[in-house]
Amino acid sequence: MPELPDVDVYIEHIAARTVGHALERIRLGSPFVLRTAEPPLTALSGLTVTRVSRLGKRIVLAFDVDGRADDELYLVIHLMVAGRFKWKPAGAPIPGKVGLAAFDFDSGTLILTEASTKKRASLHLLRGAARLAALDPGGMEILGSKVGAFAARLRSENHTLKRALTDPHLFSGIGNAYSDEILHHACMSPVKLTSRLTDDEIRRLHTSIHVVLEEWTDRLRKEAGEFPEKVTAFRPEMTVHGKYGKPCPRCGKPVQRIRYADNESNYCPTCQTEGKLLADRSLSRLMRGDWPKTLEELEAKKTEGRTKAAPAGSFAARAASFIPSRAPAPSPVPSPPSSVAPATKPKRTRADVAPSAASASTTTSSTAPAPKSKRTRADVAPSAAPTKRSSTRTRKRAES
Ligand SMILES: [Zn+2]
Repeated sequence: MPELPDVDVYIEHIAARTVGHALERIRLGSPFVLRTAEPPLTALSGLTVTRVSRLGKRIVLAFDVDGRADDELYLVIHLMVAGRFKWKPAGAPIPGKVGLAAFDFDSGTLILTEASTKKRASLHLLRGAARLAALDPGGMEILGSKVGAFAARLRSENHTLKRALTDPHLFSGIGNAYSDEILHHACMSPVKLTSRLTDDEIRRLHTSIHVVLEEWTDRLRKEAGEFPEKVTAFRPEMTVHGKYGKPCPRCGKPVQRIRYADNESNYCPTCQTEGKLLADRSLSRLMRGDWPKTLEELEAKKTEGRTKAAPAGSFAARAASFIPSRAPAPSPVPSPPSSVAPATKPKRTRADVAPSAASASTTTSSTAPAPKSKRTRADVAPSAAPTKRSSTRTRKRAES
């Protein structure tokens, strides 16, 4: 999924070509990409783009409607995993198969593509700032923030660092790739709990976030040339992300990985976990739901929940939380000798895992499948106390 550096560079290029220009028409290659019915896309015809901005990982084009601020229209594009932009001469055809939409300006045509069988990229057309705000997952913008505000947000919920950094409701624009890079830069374990961070560690993390995101935005800006065409989460200059088995650029030892579902996260044991290997199996037991099945799914479910005011106990309401409430059940099978349990063992519950046994099982997919324990209804049911807080928050956001 394109993260803050990629999205910001897209925004710079799209803004340079569209701000002050009129949108003549929108052509859809797939009707499913449009997730709103009112106002219709034709409402945008002839309107001028006033600015292009980022909302979480989404890109927002704002359109002036006769200078009436309350009626301003917003075209909101979420690229999800495989969505990409191309800039073509005006009237260029929508490419078959991957083409989702074309936005025809007098200056050229912005084409939205998605090279995946899973069509997840989305388009929303919204009228008024309140509706736009309802789509905001609420994550803090870290760049330019004060360390005190960052610390308060980081400590507002107790999660692993990996989960906290990639939660769009806590922080904006950071996903799997840049969280790997940030944690390596800060020499911090992805499974360290946010409640155990010292003030100094939080300062270091805050600095690393700035360094990594700013360096990467600069690098991508330089690489983009005419228009960013090669947007990918895996880049040769990355230190650990996508570098499993390759030498860590800092210490030379091989980079390790933690796999979950069809995703993986990379880290250097020497630089980040005091030499400890975070074995997939012990990790899946440790994480108990503090590890998103896939970040994209989590984000999609949670955003959906917020915009619809998720009912308490729904997937969205539960997904919004994952707050531990009970001690984990002891494992029926001892860990293999190679798997060294990380130093910080949080108390976690099955209720944290996931809304269903089916999805819970995917969190343990790895070379060595976790032992199957008998599940009871109570095991997967969310406990009332922790979800209450999150669903209240969910409703509050949805109402705003
Ligand atoms: Zn290293």
